[in-house]
Amino acid sequence: MGGQERSNQKRVFVTGGGSGIGLAIAQNFCGAGHQVIIAGRNKSKLEAAGHEYVEIDVTDEQSVIDGVNSAGDIDIFVANAGAAATAPALKTDRETWDQMLSVNLTSTYLCARAAIPQMVERKWGRYIVVASTAALKGYSYVGAYAAAKHGVLGWVKTLALELSKTGVTANAICPGYTDTPLVDEALEKVMAKTGKNRKDALAAFVSGNPMGRLIDPSEVAGAALWLASDAAASVNGQSITIDGGETVS
Ligand code: NAD
Repeated sequence: MGGQERSNQKRVFVTGGGSGIGLAIAQNFCGAGHQVIIAGRNKSKLEAAGHEYVEIDVTDEQSVIDGVNSAGDIDIFVANAGAAATAPALKTDRETWDQMLSVNLTSTYLCARAAIPQMVERKWGRYIVVASTAALKGYSYVGAYAAAKHGVLGWVKTLALELSKTGVTANAICPGYTDTPLVDEALEKVMAKTGKNRKDALAAFVSGNPMGRLIDPSEVAGAALWLASDAAASVNGQSITIDGGETVS
């Protein structure tokens, strides 16, 4: 790596970096010469990913603070960890509702409070949240998830305004259905419930995407790398939608 590239090397922290989109983001930043720390709850998955890692639960304030502090100076924070539970809206029990808000929304608040002040001190930083097209539109049977992801955009837009003179930006990425363990699990549930085979269950998932396919995690990772670049310095408070055109159809 040349001197110019070395001085551009950043320290990148990715929550939920042991699988799916988070792992693709970690690999992409690593491939671009940055230092990557992945964070999550599942030690064996984190270890297998082959990056520096810390164990954290993004719903636990002290765990987030300890994990972030142990990682040293973070330049780029990717709040990617999340989960999706399914239930008809009016049959969503309180526990599921609270869980969805905690892991998908409150986590982004905890991560921002733990990681952004040190970026502001150093006058440069990128805070990127992996939200979802469920932050932009409703989907049947994921009401709590959609409510949490919509909330994420309100949080990101407000951060963007308050940080606008600090050298730190805040943005969200909104993928449509993406080929990860999260969608695998959802497919398994549909197959078990409806008796459909995998191909038919998958067809229902991709039918909303005009391209007729799942998004590849690497496509989301490409957007994160771009948002973190100097070329995107003026991109602030945005939702970068990666959905094959689903939300404009
Ligand atoms: P995934 O299940 O592979 O990844 C989610 C990761 O978050 C896992 O590594 C999991 O261990 C981690 N995680 C969950 N709860 C956590 C907690 N309390 N503390 C720490 N880590 C925790 O699924 P994915 O599809 O890669 O999801 C990544 C993000 O992308 C999520 O925020 C998800 O909502 C979002 N997303 C996914 C899709 C999709 O179709 N796959 C679409 C839009 C948005």
